[in-house]
Amino acid sequence: MGIDIYNMTWDFGQDVDISQARTAAQQLSRTAMKAKNTVDDLERRFTKLVLINAAMAQLLEEKLGITQQEISDYAAQMLHKRKPLNKCHSCGAALSQTSKQLNKCLYCGAEKLKADDLFGDLRRT
Ligand SMILES: [Zn+2]
Repeated sequence: MGIDIYNMTWDFGQDVDISQARTAAQQLSRTAMKAKNTVDDLERRFTKLVLINAAMAQLLEEKLGITQQEISDYAAQMLHKRKPLNKCHSCGAALSQTSKQLNKCLYCGAEKLKADDLFGDLRRT
């Protein structure tokens, strides 16, 4: 018998590796928890904003007669001012002036190139 230096060194090395792996796992766990909290907070705030916007749209229609379609068209105009609608959302083809006027892609036939439901893509299905 005697001291097995090789095995002691290997065991020590394994202990260090395990300790480092535990520390890394704990750090990742904290990072994931922080990200989850951020997502939860953003989801709560997003839901609140959707409800407030829906309420405002309803009030605008009831009190001032401004329809959801008018709001939607105006929002689409604002979006297009920021980012011109130059490509079809379906096939990616460049949209001609005729496509924009017809509100239909001349290549694939996709319709509704303009936003027509203000809150449609914000609602959960
Ligand atoms: Zn298309």
